[in-house]
Amino acid sequence: MISKIKKISWGNWILISMILGLIVGLILNYYVKDSFIKDTILLNNLFNILGNGFIKLIKMIVVPLVFCSIVVGVASISDVKKFSKIGGTTIAIYLTTTLLAITIALFVSNLLHPGAGLNLPNIEYTANTTFNQTFSDTILNLIPDNPIAALSEGSMVPILVFAIFLGFALSLLKEETKLVNEFFVQSDKIMMKMTAIIMKFAPIGIFCLMAKTFGELGLDVVMPVISFIGCVFICLLIQMLIIYPIIFILLTKLNPIKFYKKFIPVMLFAFYSCSSNATIPINLEKLSELGVSLEVSSFTIPLGATINMDGTSIMQACAVMFTAQSCGIDFGLSTIITVIFTILLISIGTPGVPHAGVVTLNSVFLSIGLPLNTMGIFYGIDNIVNMLRVVVNVVGDGMCTVIVSFRNNFLDVDVYNGKKSLEIDENNKELY
Ligand code: ASP
Repeated sequence: MISKIKKISWGNWILISMILGLIVGLILNYYVKDSFIKDTILLNNLFNILGNGFIKLIKMIVVPLVFCSIVVGVASISDVKKFSKIGGTTIAIYLTTTLLAITIALFVSNLLHPGAGLNLPNIEYTANTTFNQTFSDTILNLIPDNPIAALSEGSMVPILVFAIFLGFALSLLKEETKLVNEFFVQSDKIMMKMTAIIMKFAPIGIFCLMAKTFGELGLDVVMPVISFIGCVFICLLIQMLIIYPIIFILLTKLNPIKFYKKFIPVMLFAFYSCSSNATIPINLEKLSELGVSLEVSSFTIPLGATINMDGTSIMQACAVMFTAQSCGIDFGLSTIITVIFTILLISIGTPGVPHAGVVTLNSVFLSIGLPLNTMGIFYGIDNIVNMLRVVVNVVGDGMCTVIVSFRNNFLDVDVYNGKKSLEIDENNKELY
C-alpha cells in the first residue's frame, strides 16, 4: 500500500489534492454549520496560511526566475546573427503568432464571459494597478526609471524590458562577458531548482486553496471553471485550425494537412509530457521527415521551446479576463494594450517545462494589478489546461520552422509532398 502511494506521480498528486480539496470544501460549505472550528481555524487560518503561503512562495520566486530566464534566453540568441537570414523571420513569425493568440483569447473571453458567474469581492487598487492609465503612460511605463527599484517593487513589464536589454548587450559582448553570462546561466538553473522545490508543495497548497475556495463559495465556482476551460479550448482550436493554417498557406502555398498528419505523434508526446523542452527531439525528427533541414530546425525548435508559447499566452489572456470579469473590473483600451504586451513578454520568459505558465501567470497579474484570489483555481485545473496548451506551443514552433525553411530554401518540397522519401544526412544523425 505505502509503496503504491509512493509510486503516485506528482501530476496525479495534484489531481488527487484538487479533487479532495473540492470535496472537503463542498462538505464544509453545505454540511457544516458556521462555527469557530470551520471559519476561524480551518477556512481563515489553516487553509488560508498553507494555500496562500504556497502562492507567496511562488510570488517570491517569480521575479528572479523570469528575469534570469529572459536574460539567458535573449543572450543565447546571439546565434541569430549567424543565422541572420532565418533568425529575423523566425522571431517575427513567433511574435506575430503570439500576438494573434493573445488577441483572439481576449476577444473570445470578452464574448463568452467565463468569469461572469463568479462574484468575487472587488479589489483594492494597488500601486501597480494600471486600469486608469493613458496610452502614453502605458508606453512610457515600459521603460523603468530605475531597474533596481522595478526589481524590488516587482513591476514586471519594466523588469522584462531591462532583462531583454541586458540579454541583448550580453549577446553582443559574447566572449568579453563570458563570466557574467555564465553567472546568469547558473542563476537561471538555481531559480529553476527553487521553483521545482516549491512545486513539490503544490499538492498541499492546491488542496488548501481548493478547500478554501469551495468552502466559501460552494458550487458557484464550478460553472465558471468549466466555462474557463471551454474558453481556453475554443481559443486553442481557433489558433491551431484557423490561424496557423492560414499563415502557413499564405506563406508557403503548401498543404497544412500533411503537416498535421505527420505531427500527430509530436502533439501526443507534448500532451502527455506537458513540456515543450521534452518534445524537442521528436519535434526535430518529425520535421526532418517532412523535409526540413536540421540546419534550420536545430536552431528554431529549441528557440521556439524557449520563447514561443502561443498556447500559454492564450491561457494567460483567458485567465486575466476571467479574473477581471469575476471581480467586476472593466478594462479600457490602454489596459488591454498593456495586457497584450505583458503577456507577450512574460510568455517569452516562460520556460518550456510543465506548469511554468501558471507560475508566470502570477507575474502577469502582479504587473497589471489584478488580485491573486483566483490563482488557486488556475493551479487546481492546470493539469488539464497544461496538456491542452502545450500542444499548441509545439505546433506553433513546428509550423514556423516549416515556413522559415520553405522561404529560405531549406525545405525539400518533394519530401514534404510525399513525392520523394527522406535521405537522412549521415552528418546530422547525431543531432537526434
Ligand atoms: N508547459 C508549457 C510548455 O512546456 C509551458 C506552460 O506551462 O505553459 O510549453
